[in-house]
Amino acid sequence: MIHAITTGYVRITKAWAAGRGKGLGRLINTLLDKEFSDWLPIWCFLIEHPDGLVLIDTGIRSNASDPIYFPPYMRLIQRAAQFQISREQEIDCQIAALGYSSKDIRYVITTHLHQDHDGGLGFFPNAEFIVSRAEYLAAKGLAGRMGGYLNHHWPDFFKPRLIDFTDGAFGNFPQSQTLLDGLMLVPTHGHTPGHLSVILEQQGKSYLFTGDAAYTEAALLAGTLDGISGDLAQAALAQERLRDYALSHHSLILPSHDPAVPARLQKA
Ligand SMILES: [Zn+2]
Repeated sequence: MIHAITTGYVRITKAWAAGRGKGLGRLINTLLDKEFSDWLPIWCFLIEHPDGLVLIDTGIRSNASDPIYFPPYMRLIQRAAQFQISREQEIDCQIAALGYSSKDIRYVITTHLHQDHDGGLGFFPNAEFIVSRAEYLAAKGLAGRMGGYLNHHWPDFFKPRLIDFTDGAFGNFPQSQTLLDGLMLVPTHGHTPGHLSVILEQQGKSYLFTGDAAYTEAALLAGTLDGISGDLAQAALAQERLRDYALSHHSLILPSHDPAVPARLQKA
């Protein structure tokens, strides 16, 4: 059983959703575009696995729209990505509404450490956190903070298991790591330096949690790259591998910001 939980909503500039231009110009277009996307969900996924409850991403907190003054360009980023969330929509409240406690979660996998994915880390003191090593290294410290990672919000107990993808090839992914029976992690960097995606094969079905490697199924199928990916060539390669996997395994595609996720899950 998979529960899709949106922790509030985000809207981003149109040039953030679908990048325009190259290099610095692409970033400027992303941050200064005056046109915005619709309000999009911020999905977290709760998986009932025989080995325990697994949460993919933790969403944002209800203070996500408070002004952030460091680094200096953070206000530009906050203008270009706007959040809407109430306290009741935070991940702990919604897990409670499903009849579980945050303290019951065994694993918290973060696809990457952007603020709309790592906001709720502090609700899971008993979980083992799973992050790719490359992502953790990129996000920590002053360099991480300058890169827009809000690592000052991480709880003291955030000491993640760092994933190096040492289990060899999986399908068309040259590297992978199996976390639990039927639950695999694959590197899909590009959006961020250590982004990962999650594949679940359960009861004859295949589920593909792309994270932000593609915001929607349509973006994945069309090869649409966002305006903030640091490495466009890698981002394109990650999408190609995800697309090939999904099409050859008839996977249910579950991106982090796709409004059609509930309908897709219901049909499965
Ligand atoms: Zn992201």
